[in-house]
Amino acid sequence: MHVMADRLTMQDPRAQYPSPPFPRQPQPRPGLTGKMDPIPDHGEQSYRGTGRLLGRKALITGGDSGIGRAAAIAYAREGADVAIAYLPEEDADAKEVMALIQAEGRRAVALSGDIQHEAWCQELVDRAAAGLGGLDILVVNAGRQQFRETLEALSSEDFDRTMKTNLYALYWITQAAMPHLPPGASVIATASVQAYHPSENLLDYATTKAGIVAYTKALAGQLIEKGIRANVVAPGPVWTALQPSGGQPEDKVENFGKNSDFGRPAQPVELAPVYVLLASQEASFINGEVYGVTGGKGIA
Ligand code: NAD
Ligand code: MG
Repeated sequence: MHVMADRLTMQDPRAQYPSPPFPRQPQPRPGLTGKMDPIPDHGEQSYRGTGRLLGRKALITGGDSGIGRAAAIAYAREGADVAIAYLPEEDADAKEVMALIQAEGRRAVALSGDIQHEAWCQELVDRAAAGLGGLDILVVNAGRQQFRETLEALSSEDFDRTMKTNLYALYWITQAAMPHLPPGASVIATASVQAYHPSENLLDYATTKAGIVAYTKALAGQLIEKGIRANVVAPGPVWTALQPSGGQPEDKVENFGKNSDFGRPAQPVELAPVYVLLASQEASFINGEVYGVTGGKGIA
């Protein structure tokens, strides 16, 4: 019998997905998936679910694109209803994800707004819980990354926006979610390899990513008293709109992921299994941990 190769077929992982050089492709932030070349793989065609999140209710910030989109597709295919939060400029990306969730016969909720504002963080959580009929998976994944070559070039405004988006919103959103989360619920934060190996041009970003690790570990200690787990995923280079929309200089985008063990960046779908595991009851003894998916650089 001839079987088509897919994500589950054993193969050399270095050759499994596109390698640099990539074309130069600057675009304004927050960045849209449809403008990327090559188009990232979020599992649209390739992620197969096995019912590991049947009936669960997930909110994913930054669920329109990149890693958050890969988690949204995987969660829906594992049987969860999914709410995604994103910026109004990202409506085109969000529409695609809504359709993908609905195609699995799951409920989808779209929440567009700016998480730099505390009031919106509160409202988006309440609207997610109302729209889904509860909330038991919270993925705080939205992030701002804008490189600045020197300390002098990093303005107070930049610094403030990065702190608000990556750290304050994590605090506001987890706080707002508390009354909704039942025992067995799971909180997952997206940090980065930058928490452990910071790049010189990402001072503010790397600082927030280290903060996300510390915050989530501390939170995990509190939440387990209620039977709720909290964990962190620390990705390395992932082929998403974050990078060509000011996350990296264009020459770095051209060679993105070249220095990983795989000679290429991850595709978002390669992160999905970790988000599924941490959300699911299969992670019943996993709390306060950091899962590296760094491509070899490690989290120590
Ligand atoms: P992405 O651009 O696809 O996702 C980031 C999302 O954050 C955006 O889609 C947007 O919806 C959301 N966002 C940003 N600012 C916002 C705001 N003010 N209000 C509401 N939403 C806002 O890129 P991604 O790479 O999938 O990023 C997801 C997470 O992964 C981020 O936290 C990022 O820091 C982290 N990460 C990415 C990489 C990488 O190489 N791509 C590596 C390590 C960590
Ligand atoms: Mg996006």
